[in-house]
Amino acid sequence: MPWHDLADKSLNGDLLSREEALQVLAVPDAELLDLVSACYRIRRHYHGNRMKLNMLINAKSGLCQEDCGYCSQSILAQSGVDRYSLQSKEVLLAGARQALEVKAHTYCIVISGRRPAERELDHIVDAVREIRRRYPLRICCCLGLLSKDEVDRLREAGVERINHNLNTAENFYQEICSTHDYGDRIDTVKAVKQGGVSSCSGGILGMGESDEQIADLAYSLRELDVDSIPLNFLIPIAGTPLGGVEYLRPQKCLAILCLFRLINPSKEIRIAGGREYHLRSLQPLGFYVADSIFIGDYLTTRGELPERDLQMIEDAGFVPAVPPRSAPVQDYAPGITPAETLVANASAPEPGNS
Ligand code: SF4
Repeated sequence: MPWHDLADKSLNGDLLSREEALQVLAVPDAELLDLVSACYRIRRHYHGNRMKLNMLINAKSGLCQEDCGYCSQSILAQSGVDRYSLQSKEVLLAGARQALEVKAHTYCIVISGRRPAERELDHIVDAVREIRRRYPLRICCCLGLLSKDEVDRLREAGVERINHNLNTAENFYQEICSTHDYGDRIDTVKAVKQGGVSSCSGGILGMGESDEQIADLAYSLRELDVDSIPLNFLIPIAGTPLGGVEYLRPQKCLAILCLFRLINPSKEIRIAGGREYHLRSLQPLGFYVADSIFIGDYLTTRGELPERDLQMIEDAGFVPAVPPRSAPVQDYAPGITPAETLVANASAPEPGNS
């Protein structure tokens, strides 16, 4: 297969056919490096050598009434995950300071649950205003289902991005969740876009979906025109309905990243949960396709030590992206002075669509 022809097609703005998409997902191992090399041309064209780092805080954990089969935070899961209500403002601020220390571009505040209660939204809005006042970070929130009015409140507080994953193809959704449906998720992504906030929506791969359904997800996200696409590779957590599910090989994960890059060439493609577990020693190859990762721990599973990830990024020839000087800065993380921050900002221009 002439993989570079597909990259040319993608760079020209043309959509891959379904047959081509399925060929990408079935790439023979012997041709995988050629495919990665073709996708690196697209990554370099839109994102240069910048790697966007995102740091999560699990601001409210467990106790969720929904039944998403992959999730250890569902009330139905016997996973032993930590359960706590919404963290204090001080804890959310401390997380922001930590995000700065590990060179994160975006601080992602995530809560468990179907949707936020009003008092939870009030609390997060208050914390976001304070974080924006103090730190040069971009803030993303992942709070479950949201209305347009709720999106408006978050935007006015300084939230620049909202995540709500489609997770999988429409015709596989009922296999992983029965308490809400795919349409609910689409409605939230549309509310985010209508509210003028940058949209982030991706998926979880390796849940038993077919290659056709993986391609469906990539096409759906293109149709929604989301700005950022986090791709999680399922970590099968004991005590969840998908606890015994293991479908992925590192090579398959790379092929999936390539497909999403080819179909959504200019977007932020993020290797999310499961990076270390599934890509293993092939992680640096993923950096030549994706332009964004999470640094630090995930919601309920441990990530790599930040210094090791930063070293791996540097070794592969990439540099952490730095947020623009949009936030008035009152306070800095230990070891970071205002002058250093401004120099870093000046030397690393913002990628186009984050
Ligand atoms: S709604 Fe969110 S927290 Fe609740 S079970 Fe589903 S993924 Fe987990």
